[in-house]
Amino acid sequence: MLIPFPLKSALAGLLVLTTSVTWADELASETKQQIQTIKDKALNDDLSFEIIESLTTEVGPRMVGTPAEKASVKWAVNKMKALGFDKVWTEESEATLWERGTLDAQITAPYPQKVKALALGNSVGTGGETVSAEVVAFDNLEALKAAPADSLDNKIAFVTYQMERHRDGHGYGKAVGARVSGASEAAKKGAVGFIMRSVGTDTNRFAHTGVQMYQDDVKKIPAIALSNPDADLMEAMLTRDEPVTFSITMDNADTKGKTTTIANVIGEVTGSTYPDQVVTLGAHLDSWDVGTGAVDDGIGVGITLAAGHYLSQLEERPERTLRVILFAAEEIGLHGAKDYVKKHRDEMDNHVIGAEWDFGNGKIYELAPGVSQQALDDMRAFAQLLAPLGVEMASTNNAKGQSDMSALGNAGQPAVNFNPDGSDYFDFHHTENDTLDKVDKAALKTNTAIYSMFALFATDSGVDFRK
Ligand SMILES: [Zn+2]
Repeated sequence: MLIPFPLKSALAGLLVLTTSVTWADELASETKQQIQTIKDKALNDDLSFEIIESLTTEVGPRMVGTPAEKASVKWAVNKMKALGFDKVWTEESEATLWERGTLDAQITAPYPQKVKALALGNSVGTGGETVSAEVVAFDNLEALKAAPADSLDNKIAFVTYQMERHRDGHGYGKAVGARVSGASEAAKKGAVGFIMRSVGTDTNRFAHTGVQMYQDDVKKIPAIALSNPDADLMEAMLTRDEPVTFSITMDNADTKGKTTTIANVIGEVTGSTYPDQVVTLGAHLDSWDVGTGAVDDGIGVGITLAAGHYLSQLEERPERTLRVILFAAEEIGLHGAKDYVKKHRDEMDNHVIGAEWDFGNGKIYELAPGVSQQALDDMRAFAQLLAPLGVEMASTNNAKGQSDMSALGNAGQPAVNFNPDGSDYFDFHHTENDTLDKVDKAALKTNTAIYSMFALFATDSGVDFRK
């Protein structure tokens, strides 16, 4: 049974005789008060929204390799300094460059219609020509993989799978495989083009882009996603008896083999007692080019920078260092996160715990830990502080961190995943419709409060989260 805090504090002296002392037992009223103060501050402040507004207005879309992406790095350095971070720096590396170019996509027979489509990231163009061929539909990636060899010679493959809407967003995992590897799987069967229904849950006439990866030694064919209504349209035509043909004209810059310099932007609120012990909060700074990246991942940038600011404004610095990492090039394959692990591998033992925000708009309902057994009681005690905000603690203990942070989790850093209601995240994800008006201000305040409270708990509680 959980004992309420005031009683627990009063009993702490007695409990210490018989049981090991946890953070909850020892919780200094001062720390508890500070967590309450930071919670109240975040719940009554617009800072995280103002940061997202600044990023989306003054920089906008910031796809890797674009001038705006370089501008976002400058913006982030200046913003961190202005918000009171003690140290701010960048860490550069190289990533492959891809430029979108132009796309014209049409159903050419039996009933010609233009459709709304977007190239998938890394797609080759059509080299000044038009690829035009009969469409062959597949229910999902598995069905495409099962097609006989050469059965798609001079055809365009079309995967019709519709992503399911779920609170925890798990429909994405089932849908995204076709996006990542569908083009190469189609090319192996002889296809000259790859089309898929967008990985998204909306019915808007916006296509969803996202990264796709060609396999080595497989012919590279153009790969595009149709908006959900246009995928419906093509399926309707496929129910007629006549063959459906489709044309793709995509004029891409030749980016073959080119790389571009990317930069993680890192800011610290330096710990007063254990400056080398680092608690990390992460988000990614890059975005796709089509919206303004407000939800993905402007919200993460807003939440993590605001949390850092609140900690920097405390009268006394917390014991450990808070390190906010704005990762580069997440959208094209976690390049910034992988580079961070490479550069900091020797210091991974000093990475106390981390959390990322890269899951959109919804209110957090669950804290899922990935920590040592002995730290679970402390985590439960912290979760109690979040209960009035509607957060429960998961019964699992295997979190690695969302998105970029999973690279650090896999390198040994303990992690917490704060799971939000992701029901509508994939309505906007990677579309022209990912804009500032989609940010839910009320949920944002609550989530900012939760991240700020977590940052203070992890930097100032002395809990050893390592396994
Ligand atoms: Zn993201």
